[in-house]
Amino acid sequence: MTAETGTEPGELRDLIRGARVVLWDFDGPICRLFAGHSAERVATDLASWLEGRGLHGLLSESERDSLDPHVVLRAVDRRHPGSDLVAELEERLTQEELKATASAMPTPYADPLIRTWTAVGVRLAITTNNSPRVVREYLTSRGLGRCFAPHLYGRTQQLNHLKPDPHCVNRALNAMGAAPATALMIGDTPSDLSAARAAGVPFLGYARNDRKHKLLRDAGATVVVASLEPVLRMVGGRRGA
Ligand SMILES: [Mg+2]
Repeated sequence: MTAETGTEPGELRDLIRGARVVLWDFDGPICRLFAGHSAERVATDLASWLEGRGLHGLLSESERDSLDPHVVLRAVDRRHPGSDLVAELEERLTQEELKATASAMPTPYADPLIRTWTAVGVRLAITTNNSPRVVREYLTSRGLGRCFAPHLYGRTQQLNHLKPDPHCVNRALNAMGAAPATALMIGDTPSDLSAARAAGVPFLGYARNDRKHKLLRDAGATVVVASLEPVLRMVGGRRGA
């Protein structure tokens, strides 16, 4: 698969040219948070923790088998919205995410792309379903905190605000005083695309493998890249233009 499979370079260029503000999903476009620390194990641990408290009935079989910590969290929140139980689960997930940052794998070309976009005057924010504490720790460890500060919009204890809800995208736009059409969101899942669409923000899909590529395409993403390298090349080429 080439870097721009199915995507015309012109479409990518138009998306990049129009962006004064870039809203990044975190896990995927910036790093693989769970590269060395299994998200599946975290989901299983959350489910076992519920079970240990006699609460395994809170999850359906498919939710238990999803192996996705956010599915577990959302399922419990739907049944006990805003409860202490949800707050405790959310904190447990945050602690696991914090552990995972130590072995997170930077996405190729993400660091130089972040620095180059900042250098050409584009403003950046993070719009993620992960904890903002985790994002801050990772970005600081890469020396990238200043490229985003103070615009980190992540998970709160109000789990109904997680993407695909556009809440974090709208928070970023409001805080930055940016019109949706002047922004660009980069994400790697259909829920990122849905959030961007609901907020009226153009979307650039990043898919590190064919499976993710197909999921984004099937959800209706029109511009999907398999690498951030062509994006970096275009943004770098704009310098001084
Ligand atoms: Mg993601």
